[in-house]
Amino acid sequence: MTAEQTSSSPTAARGEPLVVLDHVDKWFGDLHVLQDIHLSVARGEVVVVIGPSGSGKSTLCRAINRLETIDKGQISLDGQPLPAEGKQLAALRAEVGMVFQSFNLFAHKTILENVTLGPIKVRGHKKADADKRAMELLDRVGIAHQAKKYPAQLSGGQQQRVAIARALAMDPKVMLFDEPTSALDPEMIKEVLDVMVDLAEQGMTMVVVTHEMGFARTAADRVVFMADGAIVEENTPEEFFTNPQSERAQDFLSKIL
Ligand code: ADP
Ligand code: MG
Repeated sequence: MTAEQTSSSPTAARGEPLVVLDHVDKWFGDLHVLQDIHLSVARGEVVVVIGPSGSGKSTLCRAINRLETIDKGQISLDGQPLPAEGKQLAALRAEVGMVFQSFNLFAHKTILENVTLGPIKVRGHKKADADKRAMELLDRVGIAHQAKKYPAQLSGGQQQRVAIARALAMDPKVMLFDEPTSALDPEMIKEVLDVMVDLAEQGMTMVVVTHEMGFARTAADRVVFMADGAIVEENTPEEFFTNPQSERAQDFLSKIL
């Protein structure tokens, strides 16, 4: 039996679509912030989303775990359409790990408690089990020795690594990263990107909004370029960076590279 066949989900084969956005439209008042977005992310795939500020990247991420509603189209996760509300929505959100620019750790809880809260409250895990798993994850992101500290006692880079461990503790099917290193001092960016590269190499399905082109080149299977609410271009990182097709992408790359 292969590893794929032993998986609990019948749709768990690597390479199948895990996140699908089908003709998604969203307006903020008159602003057409997502325009007929079609995006399919395969299991195990790493998709990097880049584009100018205001192009709808964060809205896209937030729509995927239903922090934003959409006006048209459909988003599905592992073959299930996103439910609108209630218990089903909470269950679905637990499958989608999200890491934001600001770390959003609970200030009055220890690092360990930050990581175990979701598994205990949402997943119903026993404290001892949650603690054990949390320590493994904190070890993986290099923070295990700081488990008893509070967020304010850690650097920004360390806090962001805790935020990643916290998201992973829920055993998400997909991880969304929205500019996870944008708020960090330069010397801390690498320690966070290293954790993300590690995750990518271990086969995590990831959607990453970032301006870190080094990360995109190293870890992305595909680069999606957004401008004015639309996906203008998508390609392998190599093709995209060496041979961008659209004027918008050429212009964007000339400014950041
Ligand atoms: P990006 O992440 O690419 O910078 P966003 O998704 O944050 O872009 O925003 C896309 C556009 O939608 C921007 O013009 C932004 O001002 C607007 N926008 C974002 N959130 C809201 C909101 N809650 N209400 C109204 N406009 C919004
Ligand atoms: Mg944004």
